[in-house]
Amino acid sequence: MAAGQSCILAFVFIAYFHVAKSTGVAPNIKLNDGREIPSFGLGTWLGLKRDGTRVQVNDDSVEKAVEYAIDAGYRHIDTAHIYNTEDQVGRAINNKIKEGVIKREDIFVTTKLWNSRHAKEDVVPALKESLKQLNLDYIDLYLIHWPIGLLANGSFDTTDNLQTWQGMIEARDQGLAKSIGVSNFNEQQLDRLISLSHVTPAVLQVEINLNLQQPSLLAYCRQHNITVTGYTPFGSLFPSKAVDGAPPPRVDDPALVEVGNKYNKTVPQITLRYLIELGIIPIPKSTTKSRIEQNLALFDFTLTQKERDLLKSYDTGYRTIPVLHWIQHPYYPFEKKQQ
Ligand code: NDP
Repeated sequence: MAAGQSCILAFVFIAYFHVAKSTGVAPNIKLNDGREIPSFGLGTWLGLKRDGTRVQVNDDSVEKAVEYAIDAGYRHIDTAHIYNTEDQVGRAINNKIKEGVIKREDIFVTTKLWNSRHAKEDVVPALKESLKQLNLDYIDLYLIHWPIGLLANGSFDTTDNLQTWQGMIEARDQGLAKSIGVSNFNEQQLDRLISLSHVTPAVLQVEINLNLQQPSLLAYCRQHNITVTGYTPFGSLFPSKAVDGAPPPRVDDPALVEVGNKYNKTVPQITLRYLIELGIIPIPKSTTKSRIEQNLALFDFTLTQKERDLLKSYDTGYRTIPVLHWIQHPYYPFEKKQQ
């Protein structure tokens, strides 16, 4: 390994282990605004079907999942206005507060501003609507979901992200959001926000998995002390989710199974552990109790450098969620090459 690489790795480990107290299983990480975030969370988006349409929310599976998660020791839940799960997340949290399992301050809740509310004056009202759905007084982290604005009829809104960010700052100043950040912004978009607003996002949420490890973006975030949460952490690991042509590995990959056997862990656990060792906060979604519990059991082993090198070798830059229907938007954040 080159000297530069060892330095970066050492930094990641120091940053990762510079953790603070935690009331859950995952240790906390300090954000650049002085607050803390648990280093592992639960996703609550029901996702897309194989035909690309959204799975509809038609039962209380998310509420149950959040309750299982809190009982298992999760203290970080990720939702968004567009997932249509804020009400279930809020009910589960409030149930667990009533049962005395947690206090409000023990749990870190993230929600996100949808693309149709990018006007500066829309941000605070949109957050108030989310808080009403969640039945909470404040959110721990509010994110601009995409740099892409949309009008109500689905056509492109080109409101400057800087305007939206000013609305986010206002939401934080009013105490409605304790921390603010962005999602799906690229390096240039982050840079512009930071240099023109002088308020660095506390968090960037982006897709990170074995096929899309984004080393350059992660280096940028380390340099600016921006914490990264990684969405779709399993990428194309599960054959039921992998679209035609998605690169390996799958969950039965022999080399990954061998690493799992060594630690008595599953391949999903090996994947999540690797992401944690990259310095990322994974937020896997599951509504299955046993998987919710399994996914959190990551804090009792460490991968070797050789194992990390193996996991790194799957990085092909392949994006699971390229949102190609927005590719003509002037603020489309991803590379435009065909996948
Ligand atoms: P994930 O990579 O978390 O995959 C979810 C799938 O994995 C589900 O089908 C789940 O099944 C399955 N699964 C979970 N754990 C296991 C396991 N241990 N073994 C086998 N299967 C398992 O994908 P998501 O796209 O949901 O990403 C996670 C979260 O990230 C979202 O829920 C959302 O909160 C956030 N997100 C944010 C985005 C953004 O633009 N900011 C975009 C996309 C996601 P089951 O539920 O049946 O157990």
